Amino acid sequence: MSEETVFTKIINREISADILYEDDDALAFKDINPQAPVHFLVIPKKPIATINDITEENAAIVGHLYVVAAKVAAEQGFAEDGYRCVMNCNEHGGQTVYHIHLHVLAGQPMGWPPYTDKAKED
Ligand code: 5GP
Repeated sequence: MSEETVFTKIINREISADILYEDDDALAFKDINPQAPVHFLVIPKKPIATINDITEENAAIVGHLYVVAAKVAAEQGFAEDGYRCVMNCNEHGGQTVYHIHLHVLAGQPMGWPPYTDKAKED
């Protein structure tokens, strides 16, 4: 199951985005609400709603998203310093757009663990 999202509109150029890379299977563009000095998304052109919808048949595209992430990281000069790739799944994972996407975050050291344990704080 995969319904059209804002990312399909970006692929189809129905809404604009700051595109960093494109090939037949994937697109990379800057996140509209960056969470790090560098924050872009890498998406497959063929929509897959969530990680739960990845199968043996479509799994190759997920590997390709990492190839694109590394390519853009090298082009932009932060590959050696490092970066973080994140793919959120469903509500508890923090997913808001149901078309899988790799967040690529860079430009500063990242904290770990990456979550806030709200249950412990309350
Ligand atoms: P998620 O929360 O699903 O893991 O990540 C969705 C990401 O898409 C968010 O970081 C959000 O800022 C980004 N986003 C949502 N709508 C748009 C848009 O129209 N353009 C761009 N460039 N990014 C978007």
